[in-house]
Amino acid sequence: MKYDFNIIIKRTNRTKTVSFRIKNQEVIISAPKFLSDNEIYHLVEKKLKWIKNKLALDKLDTGIIIKRKYENGDSFLYFGKEYSLKIKKSNKDNVYIEDANLIIEVKNTSNIFDVKNILKNWYMEESKKYLIKTNSYYEILIGVKTNKLLFGQYKSKWGSCNSKKIISYDWRIIMAPLEVIHYLIIHELCHIKHPNHSKCFWNYVEKFMINYKTQKEWLKNNSNKLIF
Ligand SMILES: [Zn+2]
Repeated sequence: MKYDFNIIIKRTNRTKTVSFRIKNQEVIISAPKFLSDNEIYHLVEKKLKWIKNKLALDKLDTGIIIKRKYENGDSFLYFGKEYSLKIKKSNKDNVYIEDANLIIEVKNTSNIFDVKNILKNWYMEESKKYLIKTNSYYEILIGVKTNKLLFGQYKSKWGSCNSKKIISYDWRIIMAPLEVIHYLIIHELCHIKHPNHSKCFWNYVEKFMINYKTQKEWLKNNSNKLIF
């Protein structure tokens, strides 16, 4: 069987199931010893779409900054899912999602400046709505109260919480997967109780999100994808 990617099969007695992961453009498969190579390759065949998708995402992880063109086919993230930009001519500006497309309706389809602005406004509005709603959900759960929410675009942080209980969020976090967004919110709200990154703070975060480390790691490794 020929593929345009490397496959590394790791045999182990510790598992009865097969797991796939992608690292440095290679497919690493952990499989129980009783499975034959043929059986494993059969699974690769079945998982081909997933593998190719993950390989593409892994390529982005290598630190390449995506250059946006705001043209048809440009790829945009929304809640961790990739959408392809489709620009349509219309008398009224509008943005919506349909299947795997992020559709923007605009008067002048060749005006990149307009396309960018309308799209940015839409993203910011959606993000604010979601962050306000989810922030108040976790306020109740955690038992804290925010004085004010601010939204911006920051260079080196996705969120912050100051001593006046004012929380700032970078609206582009809406591009991250749902769990990552929730992690960020929990993180900032927990700072109201623990204004530091002490062991107590992280224990407190863990109380509300058991696998917070996964989301933290995701954010650390994928921040370069959450751009506009
Ligand atoms: Zn923090």
